[in-house]
Amino acid sequence: RAKEQGKNNYKVFHSGMNIQSYRTFIMQNELRKAIEREEFLLVYQPRIDIETGTIKSAEALIRWEHPSWGTILPSEFIPLAEETGQIVEIGEWVLKSACKQNKIWQDKGLAPIRIAVNFSAQQFLQKDLIDTIKNVLIDTAVSPNLLEIEITESVLMGNETTISNTLNQLRKIGIFISIDDFGTGYSSLSYLRRFPLNTLKIDKSFIRDISTTSSNSNLLISTIISLAHSLNMSVIAEGVETEEQLNTLRKLNCEEIQGYLFSPPVLPKEFEDFLIQSQDKIAFDEANNMMFT
Ligand code: C2E
Ligand code: MG
Ligand code: MG
Ligand code: MG
Repeated sequence: RAKEQGKNNYKVFHSGMNIQSYRTFIMQNELRKAIEREEFLLVYQPRIDIETGTIKSAEALIRWEHPSWGTILPSEFIPLAEETGQIVEIGEWVLKSACKQNKIWQDKGLAPIRIAVNFSAQQFLQKDLIDTIKNVLIDTAVSPNLLEIEITESVLMGNETTISNTLNQLRKIGIFISIDDFGTGYSSLSYLRRFPLNTLKIDKSFIRDISTTSSNSNLLISTIISLAHSLNMSVIAEGVETEEQLNTLRKLNCEEIQGYLFSPPVLPKEFEDFLIQSQDKIAFDEANNMMFT
């Protein structure tokens, strides 16, 4: 088998001898060793509750620290891992690591937050998905309502019964589900009422277009938010970079924002500092309330 594979690789180098396919080949080989060599890490981006200004949740995002290539972003290696199927193993590593981290923060007595993890279609469609997730939650002793799974619209385009079953089971366990990059897929909107979804994440391309001059994009965002609310879903705006965007989103009743305006994704230690600050703010607000009651 190894010999056959070797022969295949030999063929790849000689018939499709271009830099791109060579690069892909090398990267996929390195990726296979990355978990074992502990080259992956997670960074966390806080999501801010617009009304209270506090952090109630975060998104975990993967980074690959290669010993000689440096940091590699997911946009570069996730597609390669999807191609080889390795995404399933990587996805499980992400899930475990995020839950472990969340338990560490809880054990330190910090205010509980929900951590959102991105799932690729392939990973979401694994037959043993529910068992895998349940086991991770049990092993790490994290409450299901502190876990959120982000999937994109395209994941929902498959077999309706299967997807619906999976989503219903996840919801029954208490796990939250959000739709990532909302508005960039080609899907019909009818799936929004067919599936049990908690949150819509408006894609950053819409947020970028927010302005005081062009009201068209604002109208679009306002429509998405109303739609979500009418279906009992909450809304997170992704890629919020300016005060102007924040103010517009506040006026349109968007619940949470995520973006460079508050913070890029950061290492656990820095995120912990945010959590402590955020907690101080809650304590401060509670103290204020007490003064007035
Ligand atoms: P995503 O899930 O939509 O994540 C949001 C991306 O936007 C992140 O890029 C984040 O760093 C970036 N971002 C956050 N705030 C801003 C902002 O204000 N402006 C701009 N321009 N960008 C902002 P990142 O970390 O490079 O991840 C890219 C994509 O890779 C993610 O998009 C997600 O689809 C995928 N990904 C990341 N981690 C994982 C993972 O663990 N598993 C899987 N399957 N996919 C992942
Ligand atoms: Mg995401
Ligand atoms: Mg997104
Ligand atoms: Mg995405």
